[in-house]
Amino acid sequence: MRIGLDVDSTCCDSMPVILAEVERVTGIHFEKSYITEYDQIVGNFSLGLIIRDLYKQRPSVLHDMEPVVGAVEGIAKLAENHEIIFITSRHNATIPVTEAWIRHHFGKYPIFHTGPSEDKCNNEIDLLIDDGPKFAVEFASRGHDVLLFDQPWNQDVKDTRYITRVKSWADIVRLIG
Ligand SMILES: [Mg+2]
Repeated sequence: MRIGLDVDSTCCDSMPVILAEVERVTGIHFEKSYITEYDQIVGNFSLGLIIRDLYKQRPSVLHDMEPVVGAVEGIAKLAENHEIIFITSRHNATIPVTEAWIRHHFGKYPIFHTGPSEDKCNNEIDLLIDDGPKFAVEFASRGHDVLLFDQPWNQDVKDTRYITRVKSWADIVRLIG
């Protein structure tokens, strides 16, 4: 099976760095559990725009992000039986740092950069693992399977024939390893 892996908040624990930036920009201490949608308003600012500007203007901060718990072992396990492709909609300014980060933590896998405006359906993959509600719903709407990585901002997405919520990398390996 060809498996597409989202990067942020699926394989990469991006939120600690992002929340530090939210606090720097807005002066508001914000926690991951408060985020109910990706484009949430924090103070007078849009979370989505804060993330976009951070990634665009200071992509080097992405070096410091840690993998999501279990992702290193989980991806190695999946790669024994499946083809792995990272798919990210991060800003194009992050391409060098994203490629270096993935190679450093997980190894040499193909990486497809969709850019923020495109969906992830244009890739010939059989299964998408993603936390993003929009990507998950779009991909599933075309009759493809999605494992939705549980996050506070995707609680409105219901399990369907094509969408299965997973709470951890251990769940992912158990389901498809
Ligand atoms: Mg994501």
